Amino acid sequence: MVFDLPEEHEALRATVREFAEREVAPVAEELDRTEAFPYEIVRKLGELGWMGIPFPEAYGGAGADTLAYALVVEGLARVDSSVAITLCAHTSLGTQPIYLFGSEEQKAAWLPLLTSGERLAAFGLTEPEAGSDAGNARTRATLADGEWVVDGAKQFITNAGTDISAVVSITAVTGEADGRREISNLLVPNGTPGFEVGEPYRKMGWHASDTRPLAFTGCRVPEANLLGTRGAGLRQFLAVLDIGRIGIAAMGVGLAQGALDQSLRYARERRAFGRPIGRFQAIQAKLADMATEVEAARLLTYKAASLKDAGRPFSLAAAQAKLKSGLVALRAVDDAVQIHGGYGYVEEYPVCRFYRDAKILTIGEGTDEIQRLVIARELGVA
Ligand SMILES: Cc1cc2nc3c(=O)[nH]c(=O)nc-3n(C[C@H](O)[C@H](O)[C@H](O)COP(=O)(O)OP(=O)(O)OC[C@H]3O[C@@H](n4cnc5c(N)ncnc54)[C@H](O)[C@@H]3O)c2cc1C
Repeated sequence: MVFDLPEEHEALRATVREFAEREVAPVAEELDRTEAFPYEIVRKLGELGWMGIPFPEAYGGAGADTLAYALVVEGLARVDSSVAITLCAHTSLGTQPIYLFGSEEQKAAWLPLLTSGERLAAFGLTEPEAGSDAGNARTRATLADGEWVVDGAKQFITNAGTDISAVVSITAVTGEADGRREISNLLVPNGTPGFEVGEPYRKMGWHASDTRPLAFTGCRVPEANLLGTRGAGLRQFLAVLDIGRIGIAAMGVGLAQGALDQSLRYARERRAFGRPIGRFQAIQAKLADMATEVEAARLLTYKAASLKDAGRPFSLAAAQAKLKSGLVALRAVDDAVQIHGGYGYVEEYPVCRFYRDAKILTIGEGTDEIQRLVIARELGVA
């Protein structure tokens, strides 16, 4: 068993760290405060080839592996979660379905545009009446005169409403088969008449990322916009979420590491009772626990990524990594704010933003309760 990263991954980690400190850290507070989408950073991420890391070079991707993808997400989240989730949702939720299930025509039409970061993709699964039980989708798509006519609504969709958003893949009920609702995935380009993108939500965190409701009213797309096989929608989105969980796990690792970085710095600087607070054992214990837990979450995340890259089953590891890293991140930001005292409660220090950004990690892409169901199923008890 080897715990060292391969040389090229180690180099990538260093490059991401340098990029995040130079390009993201100086603007993260302002982007958060003004809730401004990070267009300029996305452009730079695209130039670096990081908006399409795990996709083949033939489609404009970087041709790298899932571990490389996780390292980039982790490195960005160490400094800012809004930027990290923008890349993460675009890659594993938005672009992934087209790569995995698209026809050659669909891949040729969309992937180069998306993997370059020129345009963004979104994934429309969640609905007002279908969150954890996403199979309960109410959005319908009916075939008429060679077109799908889509009616319905999606909730909380990331990356669908920016100036560079290009396409959303949505789940929709396309009929009944054997007495069961048939769910399929369809591509709906931004700008299609009848596809309306709502106002952004006012969120607890991830202020600089784009999250909106979507509405479809008599929205017509060509029959050829079906993604993969008709009726395969459930299987497809479960596969996409499996991969997505590795990205969210990496976000938790990065965010927790960032909280630890800031806490270590502060514990050395801040003095109380005539000495740096890092000299108090109560503070040392928090830092020691944070460092230990971050490492545990990191190992689980790298394991899930490595299993996927080796072509081995990774659903269990991905769910475990996502569950663990979200919980580690929540505890890390709590301890980090505590270590900062009153200064952690005001926006003067980034740790306050990290605290707000952490909570979604136990909710998005499958809540912790759902991760436990997935894990229990893999253990053969559900
Ligand atoms: C900022 C943000 C970005 C998002 N981005 C996207 C996106 O890009 N695309 C997309 O499709 N969705 C997105 N989502 C939606 C997200 O994935 C859902 O919010 C999440 O899956 C939970 O669904 P829900 O909110 O409907 O909660 P519900 O499913 O209503 O759950 C409510 C509570 O009940 C629990 N619960 C439900 N079922 C069970 C069960 N069987 N056993 C035990 N407990 C259960 C849940 O764990 C939770 O605690 C985003 C959400 C947010 C907030």
